[in-house]
Amino acid sequence: MKGEKITSPFLGKKIPYSKFTVPACRTCNTRHLQILESKIHKAFTKTQIENHDATIEELAVWTAKLLYTTLLHDYIHAAPGEKKEALGEVLRTDDYQFMHAAIQTLLGKLQIGPPGEFPVSLRLYRVKIHPDPKDRFGLATNTIGGAIALRMDHIGLLVSFDAGYASMLGNYFFDLYIDERLHLAQFEELATHWLYMSELQVGTIPFKRGTDAAGKIHICYQFDSLDFRLREIGQLPAFAEPNHDDFRTLLMATTRLMISQLGDGDQSPSWLEDPETARFREMDIEGPRY
Ligand SMILES: [Zn+2]
Repeated sequence: MKGEKITSPFLGKKIPYSKFTVPACRTCNTRHLQILESKIHKAFTKTQIENHDATIEELAVWTAKLLYTTLLHDYIHAAPGEKKEALGEVLRTDDYQFMHAAIQTLLGKLQIGPPGEFPVSLRLYRVKIHPDPKDRFGLATNTIGGAIALRMDHIGLLVSFDAGYASMLGNYFFDLYIDERLHLAQFEELATHWLYMSELQVGTIPFKRGTDAAGKIHICYQFDSLDFRLREIGQLPAFAEPNHDDFRTLLMATTRLMISQLGDGDQSPSWLEDPETARFREMDIEGPRY
């Protein structure tokens, strides 16, 4: 990622990843975060992504760091005023507080959920490596929804800090392609739906915080009501009736196409054969995007 540029979500600045920094103390930076970074580096440099040995928790914490810090960076650099206040509000929402807590687990004084049940939605896909080295990296986020879509070489990673909403209610779509190698355009379309979906649950799933006898902080989503709340939101309306403008904005982010290239009127380009079956049409995996 070092040589890549990322676009900060609210201020829209393009920043080289190596210059993209937020304040951290020396211990966190050189010890806790370094251990995590090298684990993720090891996992992502496997030729076969299915052979990676990073846990869901490690991948989630690493993504939380990326997502939280992109917003924090904008907050720090925003001029005082309405925008800065609005960014501060987003950082105080449950989703971002949860990401903050996720990063804090690295210090060992805090635990999230029961062991082995880290409440995020996460999918890893195998994608075609683009022949052009300049097009082997893609990062798109839905900062409001607390979700991220990352493509690096042969890896496509989708994470949403949604207490498992996309996993539970979008699985019939997102799981279809777990064992397949995806064309870039297919991954980008999956990612767009993922980012769209993430925004539907915002503010509906609160978490609670408690301290045990040993002083360790425990954080979990209120799972007793989670299933009910998720069902109330409904099943992947992204397919049924997506808000066209919102969907297109995310499609622009995942495909890096201009709005004029995204078809006219009510039609966005789609590789789906039929939204009902959620199957992509047959396409030449080595062929071009559009
Ligand atoms: Zn620290």
